[in-house]
Parts: sequence; structure tokens; C-alpha cells
Amino acid sequence: MRIVLLGAPGSGKGTQSQRLVQRFGIPQVSTGDLLRSAVARGTPLGLAAKDAMQAGKLVEDSIVLGMIRERMGDADTANGFILDGFPRNLAQAAALDVLLGQVGKPLTAVVLMEVDYAELTRRIAGRRSCQTCGSVYNIYTMPLGAQPRCQNCADHPLLYQRPDDNEETVVQRLRVYEEQTRPLVNYYRRKGLLRVINAQGEVDAITQLLVDALAARPEKARSKAAKKVAKKAAKKSAKKSGKKSTKKSPSKAAKKSARKAARKPAKKQSRKTADKSPVKRRRLAKPARRTVAKKPPRKATKRAGTRRRTRR
Ligand SMILES: [Zn+2]
Repeated sequence: MRIVLLGAPGSGKGTQSQRLVQRFGIPQVSTGDLLRSAVARGTPLGLAAKDAMQAGKLVEDSIVLGMIRERMGDADTANGFILDGFPRNLAQAAALDVLLGQVGKPLTAVVLMEVDYAELTRRIAGRRSCQTCGSVYNIYTMPLGAQPRCQNCADHPLLYQRPDDNEETVVQRLRVYEEQTRPLVNYYRRKGLLRVINAQGEVDAITQLLVDALAARPEKARSKAAKKVAKKAAKKSAKKSGKKSTKKSPSKAAKKSARKAARKPAKKQSRKTADKSPVKRRRLAKPARRTVAKKPPRKATKRAGTRRRTRR
């Protein structure tokens, strides 16, 4: 079982990865953890990553891939792994395929966890945590009043919202996902690795869907199947309209209705399967702006900084 879980931020990949770890006894290989660990241990790749981070740059793919390669050498990945946080774009996916092929551990399944965007926003923007005990709450699923406080700590400290969990940032994160990561859905579908589950609902129920999906056969490459259906429909309608129309040149009419017919099944299928990007993009265009008021402090510190500098 060599698995990649695909899904937007907030789709529950982390939670479900943990479940799969327990269930199948395979490790979760998180590129975030690999990076932190390599930096902490001061390995050559860790030092390279540290340089990039200190310069305020993104860590290059080659460094992350190098860390994955090292990790694949560990004995606990013999029976499989769940890759977390990687790949996030097509270039990374292609490079990963090459690497895993080289080490003889190609992916066996990719599961897309689908959650609609309104729900994702609610999940992320409603997240509040306790700074004392680390408990995470959601103000939408567990109403705690206007000033939510931790229920686990004796002194009930006020909960706080992580800075990148506000609605404005969430919209931005979802947009990046849509543009960069979403294309991986078709990439893996074409490779015959993709499974799709509806990841909305109870955590246990979703775990079961996930386990079932891993046991099931992957989705067929859509392009081939759709083409076949479209071809059949086109043939049929071409025959029909060819008999009916006498005024127009038959070939023209036939072509038109064939095109129409060809469009129909393709549409139906795309609604059923994963890709709903046009709808989502429309939703993304209207960001919710409830937490905008929280921003000013940043500006203020910046201004203070420049003032100090000019004084010196
Ligand atoms: Zn607490």
C-alpha cells in the first residue's frame, strides 16, 4: 500500500492518514516532518533546506525529493506508506513517479477526498485552539459563545485562531490548491491510480469509505471511456438526422447533432466524477470578508519599523 491522499486544505487528510497508519501499520511520510527532522539533525539536505528557509525562499523540490528518497530506504516503508504534503503540483508528481520507480516503490493508489468549498471554509475558519493544552475546537460544530474558552483546562483559557486559518487566508489557500494541486486529479486518473470518496461527514464513516476505496478498483481513465460513449452517440444521431433532414446538407446537420450528442454524455460523466472546477472557481471569486478587520496590526508594526530605521 503506497498511497497519496489528495484533497484541499481542511479535507481531513491528516486525520485520515492517522487512521490508515493505525489500521494498516504503515508509516505516514510527511514532507513537513522530514524537513523539520532533517534540519534538526543537520543532515546535508537539512542544511540546504535551512539555507533556503533562512533566505526566505521555498525549499527546492530536489531537496524534498532527496529527503523522500532517504526515507524510502528505511525498513518501515517495506509494506507501504502514506505520503503527506507531497506532491502539490504536476512537476512534483512527475518527479515523484521517477523517484519511486527508481527505488522500486511506485504508488499503488491515490485517493481524492472531496469536500465542498463552503464546508472547507467552515472547517478551517471555524478552527480555534487552546494555547495551554493544544485542544482544537470548531466554533461552527461546537457553539462556545462569543468568547470561546477551552473546556479541557481547569482555568478555561480563551481559545485562539491560528493566523493562517482566517477566512481570507483560507480562500487564498483554496485558490492555490485549485490552480496547482487540483490538476493532479486528472494526472493520477490517467495513470489508473485514482479513487474518489466523498469526505464529508463523520470521521469513522469516511475512514470506512477510504478503506473500501483502497480495496476497490481505481477509476478508469476518463478520456478513453468518454470518447467511446461519445463516438457511439455520435454514430447513432448521425444516422437519425441523416434520414430526417432533407433541406440542409445532411452531412452538416449530422455533424451538428453528433457534436451535441457527443457533448451530452461527457457532461454527465464529469458531473459524476471529480472535476467541478468551474463551479468552485466561481465560489472562490467571492471571498468572505469577516476577519479583514484583524489585519491592521501588521501594518502598524511595519510603519514603526521604518520610523525607527529613519531615526537611526
Ligand atoms: Zn485547554
